[in-house]
Amino acid sequence: MLRIPDLHTHSTASDGTLTPTGLVERAAAAGVETLALTDHDTVAGIAEARAAAEPLGLQLIAGAEVSVTWGGRTVHLLGLDLDPRCATLLEGLAGLQEYRVWRAEEIARRLHKAGYPGCLEGARRYAAGTLIGRTHFARYLVERRAAASVQDVFKRFLVTGKPGHVQGEWTTLERAVGWILAAGGIAVIAHPARYAFTRAKMCRLLGELVECGGRGLEVVSGSHSRDDYVTFARHAAEQGLLASAGSDYHGPEQPWIELGRLPPLPDGCTPIWTLSGFGSGVGPAAAGIRPAAA
Ligand code: AMP
Ligand code: MN
Ligand code: MN
Ligand code: MN
Repeated sequence: MLRIPDLHTHSTASDGTLTPTGLVERAAAAGVETLALTDHDTVAGIAEARAAAEPLGLQLIAGAEVSVTWGGRTVHLLGLDLDPRCATLLEGLAGLQEYRVWRAEEIARRLHKAGYPGCLEGARRYAAGTLIGRTHFARYLVERRAAASVQDVFKRFLVTGKPGHVQGEWTTLERAVGWILAAGGIAVIAHPARYAFTRAKMCRLLGELVECGGRGLEVVSGSHSRDDYVTFARHAAEQGLLASAGSDYHGPEQPWIELGRLPPLPDGCTPIWTLSGFGSGVGPAAAGIRPAAA
């Protein structure tokens, strides 16, 4: 493997703006050799991404970014190299998708009260009729000139204490890890720096991840600073976790995150892609979890 894999990206199957095909083509053009599609709470884009990847010689890793409520906060758990047809996984994700529909209605009710009617219909247009999330509301509110940018909408409307905020009630860490393991995948905590947890709370989260059967930590992320790489490389080493890397790419509208630009993992990390069987499509859990001979 010449280049560092990108193990965290989104498509129009959730809140990305490129179709699975468009994403795969852009990744291949940027020199990415191994790409995981990890849409929020769905694997609906995997089949298309896989079909697009094959003729390009790109290795497509099936994944998902599962929404979890832990310690009163939303934590994102990546499932990597999983079987997207696994019934246990699909059932679990279906529950989260159902919650998303209710939450979208609730967000719209609150925005209506705040003087912005019609947001559900508006957001649905951006969601392309599939999974709906806060980003779709944000894009619609930008179109409506309620704020200048998606980031601005989040800050003014969609985060804690703001008029369109709804406290997430997702699934537990234990259940989410269970679905990923059932699908033969590896469970990885996504963008840990984003939670702004104290060191003690982060250690507790990672300890519980390991207890549940999770194996990885996203050390290099599009939303991490260089200092974060070092901090979380240390966490991974302390907890015996495999290190992952992903851009969290959502589309060309966020030009500060681009495909094919990930820096290498810090020294001392055990890259998740060195697991025996990683990317085989069978799932490393099914193939037996042990580091590959170098
Ligand atoms: P949801 O899962 O629907 O609650 O939406 C979470 C998604 O919203 C994340 O994956 C990001 O794509 C996006 N997001 C969250 N916070 C922000 C922010 N402050 N600015 C821009 N996008 C954000
Ligand atoms: Mn997103
Ligand atoms: Mn995330
Ligand atoms: Mn993501």
